[in-house]
Amino acid sequence: MSDIFSKAKRSEVMSKVKSIDTEPEMIVRKYLFARGFRYRKHVKILPGKPDIVLPKYKTVIFVHGCFWHGHDCKYGTLPQSGKAFWQKKISQNRERDKKQTEHLRQMGWRVLTVWQCELKNKACAEETCEKIVRMLEENMSK
Ligand SMILES: [Zn+2]
Repeated sequence: MSDIFSKAKRSEVMSKVKSIDTEPEMIVRKYLFARGFRYRKHVKILPGKPDIVLPKYKTVIFVHGCFWHGHDCKYGTLPQSGKAFWQKKISQNRERDKKQTEHLRQMGWRVLTVWQCELKNKACAEETCEKIVRMLEENMSK
C-alpha cells in the first residue's frame, strides 16, 4: 500500500481508529442504523460514557471487550504471566462497570451489555443485534 498520508496525518488517523469506533461497536451501530434506530455515541455526561445511547428508548448499550471487562468466556482468560496484576486490574474494571450500571439504572436507563465474543462472526453478530432490536421494540410497545 502506498503511503498516501504524511506521517503525522497517518498517526492522527490511526489514533482515531483505535481509541473510538472500535470494530465490535461499529457492527452494532451499523445494524441499528440500518434498522432505523438513531443513537448518540460515547455520551460523556452519562456514567461510564456508554458506547451507544438511544434516548428515545431510554436505553444505553455498552460493547465490552471480553478481556478488559472480565467476561466468563475463552477471550476473558487471563495470561499466566502477571496473573495477579491482571486479576486486580480486571476486577477493578468489573467493579466500575457494576457501579456505572447501577447508577444508570437509578437514572431510569435500561442498560444492555454486548460482549465482543457475541459479535465474533457474522452469524452470531446478526443474532445478537437482532436480539437488541427486539428488546428495543418490546420496550416501546409497553
Ligand atoms: Zn466473551
